[in-house]
Amino acid sequence: MTVYITARGDRYHADPECGHITGPQNTARTMGWTVHPAQEVSLSEAQERGKTEPCPTCGPAGT
Ligand SMILES: [Zn+2]
Repeated sequence: MTVYITARGDRYHADPECGHITGPQNTARTMGWTVHPAQEVSLSEAQERGKTEPCPTCGPAGT
């Protein structure tokens, strides 16, 4: 399956528009920091990168 990860997060997301992705991006944009776009990766790649937990908001659940 395909999931979405961010550079700094420790979770993976089912929804690239999840508030846990866009919220920090909006904060970074406001503050003039570098905005890290969400990356579309396979679930196994996300886990290899240390994103071991599903997002509590958008899932994916039951993995
Ligand atoms: Zn999410």
